[in-house]
Amino acid sequence: MTPSRSRQTMLTVEQLGVTYPGGVEALRSTSVSFQRGEFTVLLGLSGAGKSTLLRTLNHLVVPSQGRVVSAEFGPLNDRANLRQHRRKTAMVFQHHQLILRHSALHNVLTGRLGYHNTFRSFFPLPREDLQLALHCLERVGLADKALMRVDQLSGGQQQRVGIARALAQQPDLILADEPVASLDPATSEKVLSLLKRICNEDGITAVISLHQLEYAQRFADRIIGLANAHIVFDATPDALDDDQLARIYNGHRQSRPSQPQKTQAHNRLHNAPTELEIAP
Ligand code: ADP
Ligand code: MG
Repeated sequence: MTPSRSRQTMLTVEQLGVTYPGGVEALRSTSVSFQRGEFTVLLGLSGAGKSTLLRTLNHLVVPSQGRVVSAEFGPLNDRANLRQHRRKTAMVFQHHQLILRHSALHNVLTGRLGYHNTFRSFFPLPREDLQLALHCLERVGLADKALMRVDQLSGGQQQRVGIARALAQQPDLILADEPVASLDPATSEKVLSLLKRICNEDGITAVISLHQLEYAQRFADRIIGLANAHIVFDATPDALDDDQLARIYNGHRQSRPSQPQKTQAHNRLHNAPTELEIAP
């Protein structure tokens, strides 16, 4: 992150609320902003609202209250703004969302589709797109696997294809929802190191949800802890002490919660923590 980029706001979430059909309040009156180039990790029990917050950042979940504002394009409730914002926002998913019977290269090329209209995308994409896709595969160390079918790659390699596809979109923002939840620890570390390095090199803003506290502390520039549909912690990893952890993990003093279970989360409404607002 270069100094000139360091405190430039990229995205602001204002008084955001999300209530799902059926009445579950997944986020309540949440305000937070994301700085350009920052690598933010969302922590919290299952059901805390991490995926919901991530998905509101490109309106895959449309807020019930409040709004999300892109500093560059404006409020996302405007369709033209949203289209521009989405073009520069890439997603990385837990289960990759790749087309398994297609090659790694083909999958990465789909990252370019947002740059072409529907009619254009029925035809071979331009040579520059092909070169860019190959370059993205090279950056994740998979240049030699470009023509292999994705179902012949390991889980870690598949997630690296997912990252290459995100990069092919030339994003300003990457949203990753538990990108390493399906991977073993050694592979998880490699994938997160890669993602962090590339985001740093390219000045990409990243918001990533993780279950593993250790990885959050190791890789994040900033940690946002969610509990009971609220932000209860927002600071650098070194500020995350046992008391703060207890807020995030609903009063359970749990210094190493590796895979919190749904059942814990579903008790959460009975133990709403005090909201902590620490400026990042
Ligand atoms: P996390 O990612 O931290 O596990 P989520 O954002 O997925 O949390 O979920 C927050 C709450 O909203 C949970 O109680 C969850 O069951 C509920 N929820 C999530 N998605 C939906 C949905 N599509 N419809 C109804 N309830 C949902
Ligand atoms: Mg989730």
